[in-house]
Amino acid sequence: MKIVALAGGIGGARFLRGLRAAAPEAEITVIGNTGDDISLFGLRVCPDLDTVMYTLGGGINEEQGWGRAAETFAVKEELAAYGVGPSWFGLGDRDFATHIVRTQMLAAGYPLSAVTEALCDRWRPGVRLIPMTDDQVETHVVVDDPERGRHAVHFQEWWVRMRASAPAVSIAPVGADEAKPAPGVVAAIEEADVVLFPPSNPVVSIGTILAIPGIRDAVAAKTVVGVSPIIGGAPVRGMADACLTAIGVETSAQAVAEHYGLGLLDGWLVDDADADVRVEGIEVRARPLLMSDADATSAIAQAALDLAVELKRVEDA
Ligand code: GDP
Ligand code: CA
Repeated sequence: MKIVALAGGIGGARFLRGLRAAAPEAEITVIGNTGDDISLFGLRVCPDLDTVMYTLGGGINEEQGWGRAAETFAVKEELAAYGVGPSWFGLGDRDFATHIVRTQMLAAGYPLSAVTEALCDRWRPGVRLIPMTDDQVETHVVVDDPERGRHAVHFQEWWVRMRASAPAVSIAPVGADEAKPAPGVVAAIEEADVVLFPPSNPVVSIGTILAIPGIRDAVAAKTVVGVSPIIGGAPVRGMADACLTAIGVETSAQAVAEHYGLGLLDGWLVDDADADVRVEGIEVRARPLLMSDADATSAIAQAALDLAVELKRVEDA
């Protein structure tokens, strides 16, 4: 069984850990979002790729959901002592090493996909992790700021520094139009038996990956099942509602399914709280969707996979 999953950070990584447990024999390829990537202190930081790599590799800070376990912050404190910012992005000492290795390899001419593969040699995540593109794509957010007026900021600045407090007027994956899928991305989708959307952010995680020319069409040709990141009208974690509002989509499991549309989705898992969701042409199933522990998470992944296999059989028949 060959499975492709598109993934952002926390929601994606946790789901993938469940998927790996539910389907230990499957060949899982993860296409990671790089729209959140940012250069800080001269280092290239890829938050979503690292969250997937650390989570599946056993190095994640479990409570936080991102960053390294047993982390220390000596470098951050030393930078602050020099008055060098930004201070709002929390990079720990262990995490810094990852970004140093990545930046060194990128400077030596390796594409991000090769760098990611090299980093995964250490972490052995048990899946093949490929960035959506080797080209630079950075999500920017146009905000209406009461003091500064309307201006664009890097997604991380809006998300982490501003905690999405200023409403987003629009969100754009800058560079996506000219970007090419990383080597292996389209082939993995084409060869996949099924494609899964974990409960990742529909706008700035899954939406950004789908914005790379060629990826959406390749995905649309497959049997696709998504897991709703929205339960009972609110994101389980984070501020995905602020992203959905910016693109004119209501924060509900129903609206997110309609946003993906039947051109993309064949099946949609919603929480029991949203059992009334109906979307013409999409098979909707309700079950508990809180990834509260390892067993609950692998049961969610198993349900997504079962639905995908069932729908694929219908399509193939
Ligand atoms: P990020 O890049 O770290 O923001 O992570 P993702 O884009 O992969 O996932 C963020 C989404 O995960 C949020 O919209 C949350 O609502 C969703 N999420 C987090 N925990 C859970 C959970 O236990 N169940 C479900 N269904 N969604 C979750
Ligand atoms: Ca992210």
